[in-house]
Amino acid sequence: MAEKYNICLDIGGTKVLGAIFDSKDQIVCRYKKKSTEAGSSSQNVQDVIVSVVEELLATSGIKKSQINAISAGAPGVIDQGKGIILFTPNLPFRNYDIRTPLEEKFGVPFYIGNDVNVGVLGEYKYGAGKGYNNVVGFFVGTGMGGGLILNGSLFTGTGFKAAEYGHMILDPEGPLCGCGQRGCLEAFSSKQGISSYIRQQVSRGRESEMAEQVKEGVFRSKFLKKALAHHDKVTEEAIDRACHYLAIATGNLINTISPDVVIFGGGVVEATGDLFRDKVLEEIDRYCMTSIRPTVELKTAALGDDSNIYGSLAMIHDAEQEAGKKPAAKKAAGRKSTVKTAAKAAEKKTAVKTAEKKTTTKAATKKTAAKASTAKKTSTAKKTSTAKKTATKASAAKKTTAKKNQ
Ligand SMILES: [Zn+2]
Repeated sequence: MAEKYNICLDIGGTKVLGAIFDSKDQIVCRYKKKSTEAGSSSQNVQDVIVSVVEELLATSGIKKSQINAISAGAPGVIDQGKGIILFTPNLPFRNYDIRTPLEEKFGVPFYIGNDVNVGVLGEYKYGAGKGYNNVVGFFVGTGMGGGLILNGSLFTGTGFKAAEYGHMILDPEGPLCGCGQRGCLEAFSSKQGISSYIRQQVSRGRESEMAEQVKEGVFRSKFLKKALAHHDKVTEEAIDRACHYLAIATGNLINTISPDVVIFGGGVVEATGDLFRDKVLEEIDRYCMTSIRPTVELKTAALGDDSNIYGSLAMIHDAEQEAGKKPAAKKAAGRKSTVKTAAKAAEKKTAVKTAEKKTTTKAATKKTAAKASTAKKTSTAKKTSTAKKTATKASAAKKTTAKKNQ
């Protein structure tokens, strides 16, 4: 059988990054394209996604018939089950069914999930979270994203909206956050939070080489790296403040979840190496319970910009495993049934588990009852036998005594 390939995409606010993976999960081809122009519509962005897939195929020489599945991570709230982008902050999609047109176009299954969730899944399967079971991920970018792996599975909560760590309120009197609340982690520790602190200090007359960068928005990560290398005082303060609040948030999550590992990733972390991890490590003992602290590790993400495409690959593998099918060719028509089968398989699994549990519980109850009755019997028997024995002994002793006396 001819080799089959998976195409994985990272749909960002400014670019679509794509990669082709072979059946050994090795990247054989990459391609990147700008995703949005001024006035872009959902259709425009969808066209960019299609063109990235087509470009990847053209560059690699791989045929459309050799694609096994396509998968993507995108920002915002995404109905992973239905493949609908409900809302994206930086792209024009609103309640947009992205799955159907892409499956019709390429004739293979298409999976999509929230980019940070997908990124954390990627780190869990292929990066810094490999080998752990419970993983908390913070992704520091323009905003502050979060992802959670619980007992080896991506946890998305009701409506795929879980793990919004960026909106954990750390100071109700703090700076205004994009979500409308005050003092969210994102308002302190994201690019937005760091930029607004620098902007505020500059407006008070202080000097910073980042002044121009943050004048009208957020800085670019490479300039942050430079400013830190030059020991720009205001930038250093902004980073210390960002990491201080990140440490508080990390402590809260460690106490809540007791994960094996907390991973720090995203563009800002990538530009600054282990800086965020190390600074959080300096403070973390103050913010988490001494009983939980020894069992959690703090790590910097290992996959960098690729966490999303690896996470997309993990999504394909997970869906196929869930469906109990080999990664063989599946036609678009069969796709929906695959999804349904996957959902049904999951339901069945739960049902079987529940049934198993019930049976186990019942069996356990029976066992306990049996044990109790055996114990009763044994104890009664023991007692009886002991009594009998004692009686026998007594009678024997009597007999002996009698014998001796004779
Ligand atoms: Zn917020």
